[in-house]
Amino acid sequence: MRLVSRRTVLAAALAADLALLGWLGRTLADRVQRSGAAVSQTALLQAEKPEEAKFAALTFDDGPDSRYTPLLLDGLRERGIRASFFLMGERIPGNEELVRRMKREGHLIGNHGYRHEQLTHLRPEQAWEEIERTNRLLEEITGERPRYLRPPYGAWNEGLENQLDMTSVFWSVDSLDWELQDKKRIVERVLKDLEDGDMILMHDIFSTSVEAALELADRLTAEGYLFVTADELLIE
Ligand code: ZN
Repeated sequence: MRLVSRRTVLAAALAADLALLGWLGRTLADRVQRSGAAVSQTALLQAEKPEEAKFAALTFDDGPDSRYTPLLLDGLRERGIRASFFLMGERIPGNEELVRRMKREGHLIGNHGYRHEQLTHLRPEQAWEEIERTNRLLEEITGERPRYLRPPYGAWNEGLENQLDMTSVFWSVDSLDWELQDKKRIVERVLKDLEDGDMILMHDIFSTSVEAALELADRLTAEGYLFVTADELLIE
């Protein structure tokens, strides 16, 4: 029961969110006339029984990447899908416009450390500085302090948790995209494991990852999945 009511609330909130996005109303509505793929997320939101929708979150670590992140953002925008980006501080300088675009287009922007250090191997004050440096950068660019952290390698402990006023976000399906670097194999791997409510880990620093993510978006939309951001999946 609780799950059903959460979904209804979520679907309603998403519908309201999307209604607020001017570009969706105009650009996507135009595309909807022409393209089957682009209709689906909108159509799902307007379905009679939104509680029957399934949810998944596409999450991307290690960016922003000046080559591949723009392609991914284009593809997500065409499909009316919002994703979550956990950014590495040292990759932000020079890519500020990409970060602004993520925010403008409704994606969740989280922290993935500054240099991709394994935080559990650092002294607490060093770990704090790794995270804080990226938070400061992101806050300067977006005007908003990040609330979500994905620790590099998923390495985390209670000491760090208590030290920070952030929510740590992990994943439930690892696409192994960085290792496979093959669109078809990445897609197959994710589809094999994916269930309602899953959080998919990918990296927007490879062309194969971007291609796989967009194919997953289309195939899962066709299966009735609605894509939400990581924070929306965490609501309980
Ligand atoms: Zn990473």
